Amino acid sequence: MAEKKAKYPKEFLEHIKLVTNKRAKVVIDHILQHGFITTDDLQTKYGYIHAPRAAMDVKDSGIPLETFKVISNISGRQIGAYRFGDITQIQTKRVAGRIAFSKKFKKELYDLSKGKCMICNGHFEERYLQVDHRVPYEVSGDIDVVRSVGGFMLLCG
Ligand SMILES: [Zn+2]
Repeated sequence: MAEKKAKYPKEFLEHIKLVTNKRAKVVIDHILQHGFITTDDLQTKYGYIHAPRAAMDVKDSGIPLETFKVISNISGRQIGAYRFGDITQIQTKRVAGRIAFSKKFKKELYDLSKGKCMICNGHFEERYLQVDHRVPYEVSGDIDVVRSVGGFMLLCG
């Protein structure tokens, strides 16, 4: 069990700790221990009759899942099973993103853009604006702004 856990990157395990959905956690913990979970496991061990819904909870919490086929110990027939997908992808996208966009960074961006959305030019409170990539040069017109915020901009919902 410990060996299997060791092969997952630390950042991935940290991300998993943040998952609050109970059904997602059950599935994730089972995969961490056994490498995968079958629809039999979901039903007989945890009482989740609708396997795709449990799988969707996991995906919604930002963990990629892959489906494959195994032979059931119970029925001897082919059944569905789930294992983690490409966890390095999620790791770089979500975890790195969360670190990059600190509160301080966003505030700096907010002050620089004077609280305006870069697309519609509307004025919003900071919490209604999202950090996004690329500051179009023609919009900012100021190379220093582009450089200081590292090519990011704020957009409204
Ligand atoms: Zn806008």
